[in-house]
Amino acid sequence: MLQSEGKTKFHELLLWECLFLLVVSVSCTPPAEPVECSTKDSNCTITNSYGMFPDRVICRAGNVAYPTTEQELVSVVSAATEARRKMKVVTRFSHSIPKLVCPDGHDGLLISTKNLNRVVKTDGTTMTITVESGVTLRQLINEAAKVGLALPYAPYWWGLTVGGMLGTGAHGSSLWGKGSSVHDHVVEMRLVSPAGADEGYAKVTVLNERDKDLDAAKVSLGVLGVISQVTLKLQPLFKRSITYVTKDDNDLGDEAVTFGKLHEFADIFWYPSQRKAVYRIDDRVSTDASGDGLYDFTPFRSTLSAALAVTRSTEEAHESLRDGNGKCLGAKVIVSTLQTAAYGLTNNGVIFTGYPVTGFHNRIQSSGTCLDSREDSLITACSWDPRIKGEFYHQTTFSISLSVVKSFIEDVQKLVAMEPQSLCGLELYNGILMRYVKASTAYLGKQEDAIDFDITYYRSKDPMAPEALRGHSGRDRANGGVQIRCVAALGEESEPGVRWGDTEVQ
Ligand SMILES: Cc1cc2nc3c(=O)[nH]c(=O)nc-3n(C[C@H](O)[C@H](O)[C@H](O)COP(=O)(O)OP(=O)(O)OC[C@H]3O[C@@H](n4cnc5c(N)ncnc54)[C@H](O)[C@@H]3O)c2cc1C
Repeated sequence: MLQSEGKTKFHELLLWECLFLLVVSVSCTPPAEPVECSTKDSNCTITNSYGMFPDRVICRAGNVAYPTTEQELVSVVSAATEARRKMKVVTRFSHSIPKLVCPDGHDGLLISTKNLNRVVKTDGTTMTITVESGVTLRQLINEAAKVGLALPYAPYWWGLTVGGMLGTGAHGSSLWGKGSSVHDHVVEMRLVSPAGADEGYAKVTVLNERDKDLDAAKVSLGVLGVISQVTLKLQPLFKRSITYVTKDDNDLGDEAVTFGKLHEFADIFWYPSQRKAVYRIDDRVSTDASGDGLYDFTPFRSTLSAALAVTRSTEEAHESLRDGNGKCLGAKVIVSTLQTAAYGLTNNGVIFTGYPVTGFHNRIQSSGTCLDSREDSLITACSWDPRIKGEFYHQTTFSISLSVVKSFIEDVQKLVAMEPQSLCGLELYNGILMRYVKASTAYLGKQEDAIDFDITYYRSKDPMAPEALRGHSGRDRANGGVQIRCVAALGEESEPGVRWGDTEVQ
């Protein structure tokens, strides 16, 4: 009796939370600045957008510079080089989970691209756009669309900067054309790097498609200098048509490869504990096709802090009670709510009336309305905002070559058969996102066509607390021989485990 009352309450809470997730979409407190200094621009700390690096240790830096032009950037790099200081580039939101941005040591220099945020040129004839490196993906998409052009493939979150995307090899999902990685659409970049005294301690290098060094610089983890400007090749703006189809996951191993080849913007949400896969059938259609669809991905909308606190408390309760049933039940409610709301797709920017959803690429390719923010004293926020009691998670991405991905999927299915509740925790965060990424000429890019598996899962505020149903040893192990490209980190203070950097680890 008590148990069923508890269950009913739990369902009510989840339903309220889902309702909040769907309803709140207008205003939200903007994310905090990642850099804070105790005196003007000096004696600073830097964090990421989650407010916590994998090792949970605060990163300190001597000071921060905010150049507004390439000339100012050259002066900053020159002065720091002459003074033999370590430098790192920081962006407006600093999304990377690994501690890439930390300059190491207390007197390092942070160079922010916050004010290097202008579109330099859009050229309809060559179909290119040149931007400063602090320009966000959202700006880029909007500016290109104004002149009838589009970046064909992009990450799904528009808060990333161009410099950050190149730093980390960010991508969307496609096996078509040059593939889904932003760096594979770069035709020119300008890099400011340290130099000898004879060159004034800083130099500007211009790399274009004829320079082999572009393959080194276009995914660089920020270690080859400060990217000042980037020119990207675009395409004429087009329309897309999307239908999500849910199937059981029995034949996912066979389907995964063919599906990616069949549809230009294909991806898959996989819910292994529910034995379900949701296939995104997503292709270009004629610009005459009717529809003004919009993708405002539900988890990227602003959310009521009170609802987020309820979610977090529920998760903490699951963890402390080691309540696998609760996790699995919660996962089902969340997944079905997201599916009912078509994951945030609407046919006309207002409501979802059914598939297919057809619309211009720029309105569909990427989203993140929780950044559209006016101050509301944190009544609403992005769900991972560290200033509220909200989501706090690990995020891990690994790439598996198309040639062996079937075996990997089948291995996961066998694990689920052995321990059916073991992956419900991932499904509380909408399961495993499978995206297609092509082999790249970038030295730190993909070596083979692959599927990236993105997983998000509970992280304890207590570094010593083991997680329920996740590896009894408390360790996370990589699959031997699997190519890993990661955007997050699993390591805690006590146990580095598998490190997931924004890089290829083999
Ligand atoms: C909600 C969310 C959704 C995401 N979705 C995707 C996705 O769909 N696909 C995907 O691939 N990734 C995704 N990511 C992760 C993403 O790839 C990286 O976190 C991102 O590329 C970082 O961008 P940023 O602008 O925040 O850069 P930062 O994290 O601030 O910087 C990343 C690295 O690049 C360096 N850097 C930045 N600018 C420059 C510059 N001008 N010159 C030299 N070095 C520079 C920094 O020093 C740092 O080493 C997502 C992240 C979040 C938070």
